[in-house]
Amino acid sequence: MSIGKASVRDAEVEGRRVLVRADLNVPLEQGPGGAEVGDDTRIRASLPTIRSLLERGASVVLVSHLGRPKGADPELSMAPVAARLGELLGAEVPLAPGVVGDDVEAAAERLQPGQVLLLENSRFEPGETEDDPELAAGLARLAELYVNDAFGAAHRAHATTRGVASLLPSCAGLLLEREVEELTRVRDHPEPPLVVVLGGAKVTDKIGVIERFLGSADEIVIGGAMCFSFFKAEGRDTGESLLDEDSVEAARELLPRAERAKARLHLPEDLVLGREFSAETEVQELNGVDVPEGWMGLDIGFNTAVNYAKLIGAAGTVLWNGPMGAFELEPFAAGTRAVAEAVAAAPGHTVVGGGDSAAAMARFGLAGRVDWLSTGGGASLELLEGAELPGVEALTDA
Ligand code: ADP
Ligand code: MG
Repeated sequence: MSIGKASVRDAEVEGRRVLVRADLNVPLEQGPGGAEVGDDTRIRASLPTIRSLLERGASVVLVSHLGRPKGADPELSMAPVAARLGELLGAEVPLAPGVVGDDVEAAAERLQPGQVLLLENSRFEPGETEDDPELAAGLARLAELYVNDAFGAAHRAHATTRGVASLLPSCAGLLLEREVEELTRVRDHPEPPLVVVLGGAKVTDKIGVIERFLGSADEIVIGGAMCFSFFKAEGRDTGESLLDEDSVEAARELLPRAERAKARLHLPEDLVLGREFSAETEVQELNGVDVPEGWMGLDIGFNTAVNYAKLIGAAGTVLWNGPMGAFELEPFAAGTRAVAEAVAAAPGHTVVGGGDSAAAMARFGLAGRVDWLSTGGGASLELLEGAELPGVEALTDA
């Protein structure tokens, strides 16, 4: 399947300088010698495009954002990323003295084929999030070709994702291309029956996905804190459960539509409750879904998990986004583990999106057992809803 955009596979890159927008927005931790990269999944996911360019005789100027700095905050410097990337590539990855400017241009011009330069955090420049044309022009001066491999940032119209793409010949990187292919396939051409499993805490971001799939999925399965928006809309007691008030209204509108839709909407029939969000809290299994005062729902119950696993096992395609409970806390991990195991064992095509869902697969040792593990949370949700991603749109058509 083609995504309709030029691909880095077909680009002439030998002896050329290539600006690669990657998603190197990784969590940082305090190590003995200062900040270090925590989980390096996103750096590893960016390696195939970088390696392919270097092996084909290009030099690479790499740019990404990291966190949400207000100005040039040294705590969010890309230095730890440069160090980790250097280890993974087995080569020195120098850090540029900024994002754009004379010194950065000089450093880019000194690059030899096969060498990488990492720019500083793109959000050190206020023009990044405003898609400032001057910043885009400064970026364009650093290279002859632009490759966007930052699927996780493709839903943003920023200078490094959209502005610069209109100033240079451009193409899609290997990761971005595969992400768009996999998610578009689930959205538009899934092998039936399609089972969409949704959970997690970011309910407002995911309501649009439910809407989109009401007419096309066979089963929509809800867990996580998301179910409380629906229970509240049904007039049930939700106790102290995490509740996203904005989404209760959306859930109230969705429920009657779901009755008439092709998809069957499944809500939990039992829950695991805790007094508070803690692994040490008192725990209670509830055969039902009306949460008493003083308790919060922190996981789907056993019967719900068995049912959801059965639906997943019978699917031609499974799309999973959002954990079934507070899986980080051992007493509330069973529902997410059951769904993760069902997804791993499912004979159908399986796609998992969302940072925490991917973390859950990794925690249960199942990350290698899905067909596609998406690296882009917000971008994957927007694509699945049917939105156009500015970072993809801006690339040269195939
Ligand atoms: P993803 O990153 O996979 O898209 P989200 O970010 O939406 O998922 O949600 C993940 C978070 O949701 C996890 O930290 C988990 O603890 C939390 N969560 C899931 N279910 C519940 C619940 N019932 N109550 C409180 N938090 C929950
Ligand atoms: Mg998350």
